Amino acid sequence: METIKTDVLIFGSGVAGLITALSISNDKNVILVSKARLRGSNTYYAQGGVAVALSDLDNVEKHKKDTLETGIHLSDEEIVSILVTEGRDRIKDLIGYGVNFDKNSSAQYEFRQEAAHSERRILHVADKTGNSIENVLIKELKKRKNIVILEKHFLEELICRDEFCFGAVIYNSLTSTETIVHSNSTILATGGAGQVYEKNTNWIGSTGDGLAAAYNAGAIIRDMEFYQFHPTAIQLKKKRRGIKNFLISEAVRGEGAIIVNSTGERFLFQYDHRGELAPRDIVSRAILNEIETGANVYLDLTKMEGNVKAKFPVIYRNCLKAGLDITVDPIQIVPVAHYMIGGILTDKDGETTINRLYACGECACVGVHGANRLASNSLLECMVFGYRVAQSVNKLSKNNKKSPLIKQQKQEREHMSLYTIFNTKNELQSRMYRFVGIKRTLKSMQNTLLWIQKTTKTIDGSFNKKYYAQFKELDNLLCVGELITRSAIERKESRGAHFRIDYPEIDNSLDYIHTSFVK
Ligand SMILES: Cc1cc2nc3c(=O)[nH]c(=O)nc-3n(C[C@H](O)[C@H](O)[C@H](O)COP(=O)(O)OP(=O)(O)OC[C@H]3O[C@@H](n4cnc5c(N)ncnc54)[C@H](O)[C@@H]3O)c2cc1C
Repeated sequence: METIKTDVLIFGSGVAGLITALSISNDKNVILVSKARLRGSNTYYAQGGVAVALSDLDNVEKHKKDTLETGIHLSDEEIVSILVTEGRDRIKDLIGYGVNFDKNSSAQYEFRQEAAHSERRILHVADKTGNSIENVLIKELKKRKNIVILEKHFLEELICRDEFCFGAVIYNSLTSTETIVHSNSTILATGGAGQVYEKNTNWIGSTGDGLAAAYNAGAIIRDMEFYQFHPTAIQLKKKRRGIKNFLISEAVRGEGAIIVNSTGERFLFQYDHRGELAPRDIVSRAILNEIETGANVYLDLTKMEGNVKAKFPVIYRNCLKAGLDITVDPIQIVPVAHYMIGGILTDKDGETTINRLYACGECACVGVHGANRLASNSLLECMVFGYRVAQSVNKLSKNNKKSPLIKQQKQEREHMSLYTIFNTKNELQSRMYRFVGIKRTLKSMQNTLLWIQKTTKTIDGSFNKKYYAQFKELDNLLCVGELITRSAIERKESRGAHFRIDYPEIDNSLDYIHTSFVK
């Protein structure tokens, strides 16, 4: 197996990985690895925008208060302060790189409203904010002489011993070869795991790879029971780029779209006085309740003020492709998995519980979101903590420890067919959506856990060299599914994104008590 060396090894080319890479000092060699092409990420699909307290009416205290309230006594106050304060500087950096956030007719930045925000504070580029950010940052990345980009390379395993990380083994999906990368520091910015659920908004590669690798290497994983469901997605008749559900951003509700049931009733007010602008968990559960009574639920954009097509061009076009004209008809919606709130536990500089192993962005759990993520705080978190990771890594001295020896190239002992890989993945996704989704009971979670553990044992020792990524993603999704289910069984209450039918109330004695797992 070939061995290479670098100062910094980064996995992920979403906003977290890109900001980290661009913030590493120029005198350090960086290898940035992405399992797909650079734009393959959740970031690329982010629509609504970035929350930041920069308008004249707003301030960081208000942003902090909204974030803490939404997190329901599980967010870390110091971390949230860092987010809202340093977030302002990171947005200025982004503007400096060339991201053109929308402005109003007076050439002032236009801040949108989103649910559970007490002020209009969402900066955006129409409804393709993530796409614009990715394009600008990738352009910048390609100018940097100290950064080597490896696309279509897959994080296979981390090289760790005695809670110290020495780098990773990566798999080249084009040549089917492995390489050992020894690195002074290793950073995971590998995103979420929405593909563990049958209905989700995530890009096809959102399979929790970094999280599973960190768990297998002995890092602490925290708060996995909190998987945020987004209330408003449409079900596509045909998959597009592997995506079955297309998200309709919360920003449309901030701009006046309403949610109604089959009889035209705005039923959300029965659940929360904020109606359509209540937090996502409340809206998702209310919609599911309605669907369970046999009703359909619709998002109605027809009465919105202003030019809907101009404000939300991507949503308009995608709905039209699916045969839905949002300017004419209400569209049928369904709540779907969206965002991994838990993740690899890190400190405020992004270091995990393993030395020299860092994590940032959606794969990390630094303590911002608590039990529920406030809309549009995610891109901000990626930037703030990606930047902090880089600052921390910039100060590291050379590691003189000796790396453990690595086994030879992985051999195909027992072949697992592509057909079996897909069937097993579909079964996992279906069980997770039905039994460990928006509403959970002990019995169904226990059954799911048993199924996952049995299936994991069955595939242990199997491999598929030709379809390495698909095989490994399944393996990782099973790991993520197990961690979500075990965490959800452990938390005997309902709070934010975690709702148990058998424990429907919040238990205040569990305030600031986290669920953690280590292998
Ligand atoms: C449809 C949609 C809309 C959203 N809208 C918003 C919004 O408006 N505002 C907001 O704040 N948030 C939004 N979010 C959430 C936000 O986009 C994500 O949380 C954020 O972009 C995550 O960024 P990231 O860099 O952590 O991960 P990602 O952007 O998902 O990037 C992960 C990277 O890791 C790489 N990777 C993964 N596994 C491996 C592996 N095994 N080996 C090598 N590389 C690997 C991938 O190739 C990819 O480059 C939205 C999410 C979705 C899905």
